[in-house]
Amino acid sequence: MNVLVLNCGSSSVKYQFLDMKNEVLLCKGQVERVGMEDGMLSHQTHTGAKKRQALPVKSHAVAIKIILDTLVDEEYGAVRSLSEIHAVGHRVVHGAEEFAGSMLITDAVKAALERNIPLAPLHNPPNLLGIRAAEELLPGVPQCGVFDTAFHTTMPPHAFLYAIPYSMYKKHRIRRYGFHGTSHKYVSERAAEILGRPYGDLKIITAHLGNGSSITAIDGGKSVDTSMGYTPLEGLVMGTRCGDVDPALTYHMVVDLGMTVKEVNDLLNKQSGLKGMSGLSHDMRDIESAMAEGNEDARRAFEIFCYRLRKYIGAYAAAMDGLDVLVFTAGIGENSPAVRWAVCSKLGVLGIKVDKEKNESPVKEKIISTPDSRVVVMVIPTNEELAIARDTARIITEMRKAGG
Ligand code: ADP
Repeated sequence: MNVLVLNCGSSSVKYQFLDMKNEVLLCKGQVERVGMEDGMLSHQTHTGAKKRQALPVKSHAVAIKIILDTLVDEEYGAVRSLSEIHAVGHRVVHGAEEFAGSMLITDAVKAALERNIPLAPLHNPPNLLGIRAAEELLPGVPQCGVFDTAFHTTMPPHAFLYAIPYSMYKKHRIRRYGFHGTSHKYVSERAAEILGRPYGDLKIITAHLGNGSSITAIDGGKSVDTSMGYTPLEGLVMGTRCGDVDPALTYHMVVDLGMTVKEVNDLLNKQSGLKGMSGLSHDMRDIESAMAEGNEDARRAFEIFCYRLRKYIGAYAAAMDGLDVLVFTAGIGENSPAVRWAVCSKLGVLGIKVDKEKNESPVKEKIISTPDSRVVVMVIPTNEELAIARDTARIITEMRKAGG
């Protein structure tokens, strides 16, 4: 079964096309600057051949049409006809409380996504546009939604409720939702698989450290707490997002400093984190090289990033009353031995011992703890697209078996 995975953001559509029989990536790419006259297609075939083309992309529907044309392109495509696309898997950011797992997209699912727009005003509208465009361009091809929030719907109320009046939850659904669920689920399952231990027996912490970062406590295969909240702003320090701050700061910035609400929102989401603290860059690579050159602001930003992460690991070990496995993943988690060392070398209290050489080895998927470490520390590359394609293939296979 060939599955097209679509990730529709506000101004870009990323895609991967996979043959799920052997889980082979056939091609991948993205269309950027959606909504503009000067859009850009970047495409890569399974052999590594690359195509870049500037072209107008006035809507998400146009972006998806460009992707489909590229999939059947004689030189760069992967198939001869669109009939060889057997299913589409959509990454959907916010499924709210309604979607505890991936599912076939029906009218009822679209209506629920529409209802949830107030919860994810930046993300759900482009997701919906992508779903509608794919339905129109690939009539009869089943579409599935895989939700970033779904894995976290197992959190207990004591973890997902904020200490504000309960009516805010009942009336306005204000609560912790959590994001990056597809990634946390994928790497935690993979950790159990590598260790050859039952997923349901393990207490795992997964640290997804990319431009956006979040950390999740997974007890017996279920997410029991996660650091992102009602929005992806809460929790860890990120590239440009502040993570946890005193919520009264926003009041102070508006009332005493005369900032507009939009300016405050921009400051916390786009001008903070590594970028704001260092005054240099949102990118951990830049922070690390500036630090090596003796830049004090970069060093401080690095330290705050790692300190917050360490604090959360301690908190989640306490929340689960134990810890068997700690997993690092995503851009920083997978590629920064310096961050992993700064965090783990000060977690002796949890019995964590990391082997310096293993931590620095170029192997992508690895165990970096010493044999006598009480917690197994691992680096596992995430693959959200593969996880989406797997869920999509599973749902379609089940549907066919049921005669749907
Ligand atoms: P996104 O959240 O956009 O999917 P990624 O998971 O791709 O992000 O992570 C991107 C981040 O990974 C970059 O901003 C950079 O900070 C970090 N990164 C990538 N490679 C390295 C590296 N070799 N060393 C340190 N950080 C890295």
